[in-house]
Amino acid sequence: MKQTAAMWKKTVFCLLGLIGMVILLAATTAVFFLALEWSEPDAAQAASSASPAQAAQSSLNTWEFTGQLEDWRLLLVNNTISMPKDKMPDLETVGIIQVDRRIVDDLQAMLKTASGDGVELTLSSGYRSEERQEELFQKAVEDNRFLGMNLEMAEAVAAESVARAGHSEHNTGLAIDFNGVLETFDETPEYRWLQRHAYEYGFVLRYPQEKSELTGIRFEPWHFRYVGQEHAEKMRLLNLCLEEYVTYLTAQQNHS
Ligand SMILES: [Zn+2]
Repeated sequence: MKQTAAMWKKTVFCLLGLIGMVILLAATTAVFFLALEWSEPDAAQAASSASPAQAAQSSLNTWEFTGQLEDWRLLLVNNTISMPKDKMPDLETVGIIQVDRRIVDDLQAMLKTASGDGVELTLSSGYRSEERQEELFQKAVEDNRFLGMNLEMAEAVAAESVARAGHSEHNTGLAIDFNGVLETFDETPEYRWLQRHAYEYGFVLRYPQEKSELTGIRFEPWHFRYVGQEHAEKMRLLNLCLEEYVTYLTAQQNHS
């Protein structure tokens, strides 16, 4: 009798132990899957509150221009804003191009480091006069006319790839086209080097793919613009193109 009672006790303990283990296993599995499910929204939430770029951009779905900023490095010229007549740059020749002489030291330092890293950057285009820009535009219009377009159409299509006189950033002397202006430049080590290091010398990719609606210009991997190191770093951090950055700084000035 005693023996049977002891056996029963043993069996009950074993059963209880087994049930306990099953419950523990189920609980662990449930916690694991719940954690998995929660981890994604949590990460997204953390990113939105932590990223200064998203904070800056949420207020910048568009851009607004109320006048050139005092800083010469932030001169803004695009399809709607023309080159101010009184900002004609003082030019200096580097290789086969001319640029604003104030950017020459940074440009040469960048070329030198790139070369040391085994990357050969060549200068294809720098400063362009308004006359030269108009020639380029008219040439594009003629080409389109030759293809059978009427004048209005030919000019509209030309404007998609060539700026009108006074509306090219090359009029500022602060823009540079690298390595032969090739559509495939973004597949080269030179482009990848610029993506990583250009900002250290004050240059930014001026017409990024994802900003073409704001800049009014399609992706141009070869075209870089000097804005100075401090601004280049900030633009990179906040992920802003020049139109957005000028809008952002103007808003900040107005608030202070
Ligand atoms: Zn260019």
